[in-house]
Amino acid sequence: MNAPTEHPRKPRVAVHKFSSCDGCQLAFLNLGEDLLTLAGRIDLVHFAEAGPLDPDTGVDVAFVEGSVSTQEDLERIEHIRAHSSVLIAIGACATSGGIQGLRNQANGTEWVAQIYSHPEAIASLARSTPISSHVKVDFELWGCPVSGPQMLAVVNALLLGVAPRDNADKVCTECKRQGYPCVMVSRGIACMGPVTRAGCGALCPSLGRDCYGCYGPAENANTDALAAQFASLGLTPEAAVRRFQSINSQAPVFRAAADKLRTGSHD
Ligand code: SF4
Ligand code: SF4
Repeated sequence: MNAPTEHPRKPRVAVHKFSSCDGCQLAFLNLGEDLLTLAGRIDLVHFAEAGPLDPDTGVDVAFVEGSVSTQEDLERIEHIRAHSSVLIAIGACATSGGIQGLRNQANGTEWVAQIYSHPEAIASLARSTPISSHVKVDFELWGCPVSGPQMLAVVNALLLGVAPRDNADKVCTECKRQGYPCVMVSRGIACMGPVTRAGCGALCPSLGRDCYGCYGPAENANTDALAAQFASLGLTPEAAVRRFQSINSQAPVFRAAADKLRTGSHD
């Protein structure tokens, strides 16, 4: 009699939430039918938004949404890293600190005191930081929210045993490929597309509005040239700073561009 065939176990995947709005987890859930197909090929052991709850079993791939903004976040990310073969940071919060990272350049304690009647109940760290500031990150997917199809492509690549593709092209390349009219050239609207990483399919320009940089800095982002273009369109230095200091304010390239504008040292 033949010995029973041993089936290899399915790859274990977890999706973890840190300080975030859950939008990137929703992007994953919104994959709908594709997610159901994927669910048949993997063992989804932890994904609080979808149901499974087991943050302690070791996994092959862990997706991490959100920034490290509390003491609990600090402790949990170490635990997750120790229990994951591959760790992928998803979304602006996890890759650059996100919108909550704006407080890194302000007095966060003062802000909390102005907003909350019991500020002592807020136990946040002084700074919001990306996952890579604390543990090794194997791959980063930028965006606010991250693109569900991009997440799916990464999982599929890992299941096939190949390295996921990192698309660090600029939004302008997607815009041109789709044939959308350029809002900056045709209507004089300041657009972050020339320095922003592709991945959204040029969603905002497709609707006739400017890109606001939610996918973070592209490769070889020429922020000096864009700052000069913003000035020629009539933006004050303060207004230009706000363009760079938004969802990905703590991404080093955008922070450096804003600092240069503040000190007037742009070329
Ligand atoms: S990156 Fe944007 S959508 Fe994703 S969790 Fe952070 S704030 Fe929400
Ligand atoms: S609309 Fe923005 S993203 Fe599109 S080509 Fe023009 S500058 Fe680039």
